[in-house]
Amino acid sequence: MQKILIVGGGTAGWMTAALFGKLFQGRYDIELIESEAIGTVGVGEATIPPIKTYNELLQLDEAEFMRRTQATFKLGIEFVDWLGAGHHYMHGFGVIGQDWEWLRCHQYWLSAQQRGAARDFAEYSINSAAALASKFVHPRPDMAESPISHITYAFQFDASLYAKYLRSLAEKHGVRRTEGRIVDVGTAESGDIESVTLDDGRAVAADFFIDCSGFRGLLIEQTLKTGYEDWSHWLPCDRAIAVPCARTDPVLPYTRATARDSGWQWRIPLQHRTGNGLVYSSRHIDDHSAEKLLLANLDAEQLANPNRLRFTSGKRRKMWNRNCVALGLAAGFLEPLESTSIHLVQSAAIRLVRLFPNAATDQATIDEFNRKCDFEWERIRDFIVLHYWANRRQGEFWEYCRSMELPATLQRKIDLWRSNGRIFREDDELFTEESWIQVLIGQGIMPRSHDPLTAIKSDAQIDQFLGNIAATIGRCVDVMPAHDDYLRKYCPAVAVA
Ligand SMILES: Cc1cc2nc3c(=O)[nH]c(=O)nc-3n(C[C@H](O)[C@H](O)[C@H](O)COP(=O)(O)OP(=O)(O)OC[C@H]3O[C@@H](n4cnc5c(N)ncnc54)[C@H](O)[C@@H]3O)c2cc1C
Repeated sequence: MQKILIVGGGTAGWMTAALFGKLFQGRYDIELIESEAIGTVGVGEATIPPIKTYNELLQLDEAEFMRRTQATFKLGIEFVDWLGAGHHYMHGFGVIGQDWEWLRCHQYWLSAQQRGAARDFAEYSINSAAALASKFVHPRPDMAESPISHITYAFQFDASLYAKYLRSLAEKHGVRRTEGRIVDVGTAESGDIESVTLDDGRAVAADFFIDCSGFRGLLIEQTLKTGYEDWSHWLPCDRAIAVPCARTDPVLPYTRATARDSGWQWRIPLQHRTGNGLVYSSRHIDDHSAEKLLLANLDAEQLANPNRLRFTSGKRRKMWNRNCVALGLAAGFLEPLESTSIHLVQSAAIRLVRLFPNAATDQATIDEFNRKCDFEWERIRDFIVLHYWANRRQGEFWEYCRSMELPATLQRKIDLWRSNGRIFREDDELFTEESWIQVLIGQGIMPRSHDPLTAIKSDAQIDQFLGNIAATIGRCVDVMPAHDDYLRKYCPAVAVA
């Protein structure tokens, strides 16, 4: 194995190129082909905390990266109107309160809640409480006793600026970029991919191919006919319209997902603008009405024409087939309700590094890679499906979601939760117990009871324990700086050309 060819220069292509360039420089010859004429999908601005691991692998300076990508900090996602008008809750990253002896904090909260003595669940999460107050500060690991040591964050950034930034790093590490449209893909008798041909007639051969060509899946699907697992019966939204609007102050340190007729709207605040979009089901609302709905719900002046996108939720039957691995939109699509797509690129790219083969078609390695990807995608799918299923909204679309049969893996989790409020993270699934708990409670799925061992503590002890946590978090949030002020000092964005 000598030559690796990355097809596509969107977020997926350049994230992979930057990582591979950094780790494999001098070992492999790495080339990336992209076509300016085709362009990129042009969306994807909200991330989740593991992106910090990826940035650290690349040794990015955080403030510099944030300046160059117009980034803001992200402490979680606010869900608005999923249970009807006026209802909202936060899914904050990170921990909730603290364990007491060996029970999780939420068990005491459930016990208080069933007595009618609980405060809003967000008051027990430093992330949620800070987000709702529009405050931010970096975690302070040296203050181990303080909730501030637990602050967990991600970023909201301009994805095209991020790809540009990563391109400069990848090229610095020896990745060669070739501009051109691929018009043909050559395969060997074995069925493996051998080369691609550009529109000017040049042929580029390689031993290993990484398909980052976006929804079209130029290699993985159009050439290798790998097949697609369609999940649209669980995730019926199949279109999106994205449009930026002017920045509004304060710049919130969180993403907002507001339920709408037949879909939901995202709001992602960056330093120079706000990203907005409507994800919807074309069986339930037509494109024109969807666009009107989105434009009527911008909170400032529209800055560009709407970008219309079509998709089918699901994933390739194999992410790695023969001598080709698909990453990004070429691998499949899970809608951005929990901002997971860029993460799926990152985790698959790191998985590929960990499993990088001597020969491009080592079957045991391929099977392990695909098994891990399937597990990761299915668990994230379940988490997203939960939001839709647990809605309390009117209308055909929302009624369909409420009545759909759930994946068995999700049904099992909900059944366990409903009995005693217990939830367990399975192996290395992405979302933590805290994430599941916040969304289950936030979406109104309450357990019939709580852990019987909470009875070891008296009601007064439980109330005092919970009261102390909420009060400590409240005091921490009071002294934290406003997110806006923090951004201005830490990483004022460079002007966009
Ligand atoms: C509506 C929507 C909202 C999203 N929001 C989020 C979000 O908030 N957070 C998140 O993490 N993710 C989000 N995503 C996903 C995110 O946008 C993608 O995961 C990410 O941009 C990666 O895209 P990509 O690089 O795979 O594909 P693309 O950006 O489509 O790039 C494909 C590349 O392949 C090249 N290419 C294609 N065909 C050829 C050819 N024949 N010859 C040469 N080059 C070719 C193109 O030129 C381009 O460079 C969202 C996606 C959608 C659709």
